[in-house]
Amino acid sequence: MNPCNLCPRKCNIDRSQSLGFCGESEALSVARIAPHFFEEPPISYKKGSGTVFFTGCNLRCEFCQNKAISRGNAEGKIYKKSELIDALCSLQESGVHNINLVTPTHFADKIADILSDMKSRGLLKVPTVYNTSGYESVETLRMLDGLIDIYMPDLKYFSSELSEKYSHAPNYFEVAIEAIREMLRQRGKYKYNESEPKLLSSGVLIRHLVLPSHRKDSIELLSRLAELINPSDVLLSVMSQYTPEFALDSKYSELHRRITSFEYTTVCDKASELGFNGFTQAKESASARYTPDFAKNNNDI
Ligand code: SF4
Repeated sequence: MNPCNLCPRKCNIDRSQSLGFCGESEALSVARIAPHFFEEPPISYKKGSGTVFFTGCNLRCEFCQNKAISRGNAEGKIYKKSELIDALCSLQESGVHNINLVTPTHFADKIADILSDMKSRGLLKVPTVYNTSGYESVETLRMLDGLIDIYMPDLKYFSSELSEKYSHAPNYFEVAIEAIREMLRQRGKYKYNESEPKLLSSGVLIRHLVLPSHRKDSIELLSRLAELINPSDVLLSVMSQYTPEFALDSKYSELHRRITSFEYTTVCDKASELGFNGFTQAKESASARYTPDFAKNNNDI
């Protein structure tokens, strides 16, 4: 067994023997496979996005809305390669518009193997989406070159103090920017489906969640992003759905409230001024009801 260095944490441990920062062994562990209707409009579109929620996470943010499965605390269903291929085929048959791999980083090698196999056998019928925290290494993304149609990275923080404080990753911004550049190298400017012009078929959709008390970091992040990539090459989703219920046990009291309309609109205005196109959210999106019920394990397709 090779030591795991799949992500920038570079734990260099044998996951058949111990767990790394992501909290996962080498077993491919999935919390939920189901159509999901609350992604951005060109991802969920009419019939839903085919989400596959993996357990564990290599970032483990203080305010994570998927805490129930992301902290190495969830008992996911363990899939063999052939079983997950069968599940992905069933998911496609349910009519979803894409296969949306959520928090996939720590299983990227297995995912590359599965998608490569499905592609060579003609089993991939819809675009694939790689839905990630953005804390990715370029070497790992290169394993996925030609297998992922839509990259959907978060871009969470500019300040290294903030990324250290909330995600134990002081190098988050520079790592995530290099990852986004690699995603753009692979997929280029975003494209919509030729026969369904509001359904995304390839490209990079960057998500930014506005945090309470950190509007200035959001504005700095977007400004730096606009200097480092061409804003017209990507879609940007500025999210207002920060939900304090998932951070009420945090020692950081600034996370215990929702964002204000002022915080959100100033960040959206800056995104627009910088030339980004994409999506904003209604304020009622800041609700735990948009988080899937992970207790309904796997049975929704
Ligand atoms: S994938 Fe997990 S074990 Fe591997 S380097 Fe990243 S955090 Fe460590």
